[in-house]
Formats: sequence, C-alpha cells, structure tokens
Amino acid sequence: MIILECQYCGTEFTAERISAKYCSDSCKTKANTQRRENELIQRKNEARQAEIEREAELKRESDEYFAAEKAENERIIAEQRKQSEEKRRLRERERHEKDREKKINEAEQKFKLTALGIVAALGIGYKIIQAITKPVTPTAKAPHMPNNQTDEISSPNPNHEPIANHSKQKKEPTKNK
Ligand SMILES: [Zn+2]
Repeated sequence: MIILECQYCGTEFTAERISAKYCSDSCKTKANTQRRENELIQRKNEARQAEIEREAELKRESDEYFAAEKAENERIIAEQRKQSEEKRRLRERERHEKDREKKINEAEQKFKLTALGIVAALGIGYKIIQAITKPVTPTAKAPHMPNNQTDEISSPNPNHEPIANHSKQKKEPTKNK
C-alpha cells in the first residue's frame, strides 16, 4: 500500500499500484471528461489558429497581389508619363528647330533684299553719275526728231486745201444751174 495524490482533486489516497492516478472512479470519469473537453477545446483552438493563419496567408497573398498590381500600375503610369514627356520634348525641339530655320530664312531674305537694295542703289547712283558726267550729246538731241516729223505731218494739210478748192469748183457749177 502506497499513498498517492489524486491527479484530479488533489487529495491523498492509498493505492495498491504506483500507476494509480485518481482517488475514485468519479475523479477518474471527471478527469477523462475534462481531458476530452480539453482536447476538443485544443482542437478547436488549433483549427481556429489554422484558419487565422490561412486568412492571414490569403490576406498577405492578396496584399502582395495588390501591391504587385499597384506597382505595375505605377510603373505603367510612370512609363506613359515618361513617353508623353519625351514626345513633348521632341515637339519642343522640332518647334525650336523650325523657329531657328525660319529665323535663318528671314535673315537670308533680309540680306538678299539689302543686297538687292544696295545693287539697285548702286545702279541708280551709276545712272545719276552717268547723267551728270555725260555732256549734251547728239543723242540728247534725238528727242527733237519728232518735231521734224510733225512738220512733215503738217504738210499734208495743205494738200487738203486743193481738194477743198476742187469741191468749191464743183459746187459753183451747181449753183449756176
Ligand atoms: Zn480525486
């Protein structure tokens, strides 16, 4: 006979074997029930824990997915922004180039006009100098030539007078009749 402590209620009891755990059958049944309940609770807790972990995993995956999607969207947006910025810069450069070409053309045109102006001015100057330096030459008298022609033209008029005379002569006989 040995004295042991009941593993359920804690009271001391006398047992025949050292492997005895409970003071009575009642304590044994209660202990078994409690163990089963504890096991059930533990299983439930484990299941709940597993579910929590699974949900956490799903959430993490979904967060990762959304984070990846968000990152991808941000990358696309950044890429589009970069491209549009590149296009804008290209257009700006083209516009700048056109302006520069236009300015060069305008400058060339201006230069040509100035050169033409200078040439024209030189021409006029040359003509003026020619006119001043040239003395009254026979060619200058040439404009008088038409005067001679007018004299010649005026001469036919006297020719008409004889015709008029003829008509007068013809009219006179008619008066006589
Ligand atoms: Zn007991």
